[in-house]
Amino acid sequence: MHKTFIFLFIIVISLPAKLIEQQKNTYIKAGFLYDSKSNTLLKNKLIQIQGTKIISISEFESLPENSQVIDLKEYTVLPGLIDAHTHVLFYQEPNEDFAEHSVKSLTMESDALRALRGANRAKSYLEEGITSIKDLGNSGLYLDVALRDAINEGTIDGPRIFASGPILAANGGQVYGVLPKHQNIIDLEYRIITNPEDAKNAVREHVNQNVDLIKICADNIPNNTYLTIDEIKSIVKTAHSYNLKVTAHSVTNQSAWNAIEAGVDGIEHGFNLADSTLLKMAEKQIFLVPTENSKSYMYTYAKLANYKENELDWIDNYIDRMKKRLDRAIKIGVPIVAGSDNYTDIKTSSGKSSKDMYRYYLEAGMKPLDILQSSTYISAFQLGRENEIGYIQPKSNADIIAVKGDIINDFISTLENVVFIMKDGNIYKNEND
Ligand SMILES: [Zn+2]
Repeated sequence: MHKTFIFLFIIVISLPAKLIEQQKNTYIKAGFLYDSKSNTLLKNKLIQIQGTKIISISEFESLPENSQVIDLKEYTVLPGLIDAHTHVLFYQEPNEDFAEHSVKSLTMESDALRALRGANRAKSYLEEGITSIKDLGNSGLYLDVALRDAINEGTIDGPRIFASGPILAANGGQVYGVLPKHQNIIDLEYRIITNPEDAKNAVREHVNQNVDLIKICADNIPNNTYLTIDEIKSIVKTAHSYNLKVTAHSVTNQSAWNAIEAGVDGIEHGFNLADSTLLKMAEKQIFLVPTENSKSYMYTYAKLANYKENELDWIDNYIDRMKKRLDRAIKIGVPIVAGSDNYTDIKTSSGKSSKDMYRYYLEAGMKPLDILQSSTYISAFQLGRENEIGYIQPKSNADIIAVKGDIINDFISTLENVVFIMKDGNIYKNEND
């Protein structure tokens, strides 16, 4: 009885203050505002923010008197950027082997240490204006979900995370060379699918752990195993019944074809996609996340990985092949979603390293605004979240950044020069202060 009274008393005292807080408006004056849906730059716009949400977009003249204003008239204001392919709980040295590093991490790195390291990496994305990430596995048993929840509850700062949980894969996952008697180690990182019925259960397990989407390995290269069309169909059907999207890691053209036949929503990497596969993707509007790196990144990587100077011809060939593949995909009409797949320590922060994808897309011939759209509106749309993120519009989350420079003619350095970062209405950086 006594306790109830105190509880009610606290509610009565604290409620008015909370209401006042919620009604407080903040206004941003944007010199240029990027409209990510129409893919255009608008001049002199006023953004009204209340709490965690955007309320309205209007002209400077509609600013009420005595309101709280953030002056970004000198800058270009963008929706918070989205990296649609990250692995914040996995990081290896350039000269390390993926499988060996995976085994080492799973047997010698505690979940606590892995999560703390992941938290630090995640934060570095937010610091670069990447306010949302799709984290696609290699994150132990749901450490990505834990990290997401810790960020959402305000325990730590970081980007909005869309977590996939363990990748659904055929025997062995992507970790080659592990003996049969040690396959239980693989179960700590992948959800191994044994048949279509098991595939259904795997998705249900993920649903109960509150994942945001499903990631599969259509092929397991360098392992030779792959999911069958029937297994992928079962995954897709179950995931879609719970309103979850499915995206497929795919290196070979055949595995992408299988995944597309089975109804996945997206293809990650797709290094070897044939025109016939790209046509099918365009027809079904299945997105492609090209996870390539720029030329300068590749040289930095090769140096750190101890390649010899005269052994670097493959870089030019690789860049050329990937550029042609991206060209073909765009010409055929495949939706392009920006994603870095950055998990190699090239001696800079994860967030900074992630932004190398923009340099690659530019080198490959994409136009600056098209790149921005792939990293905002199209990315959000393909995740089914275009009403929440990736677009500065009424009712969306207040994830807003500002960059300094000429975004059309000096794209890369402008995108690197982030002067203002807001996520969920909270300001994480404001160089105007
Ligand atoms: Zn990846």
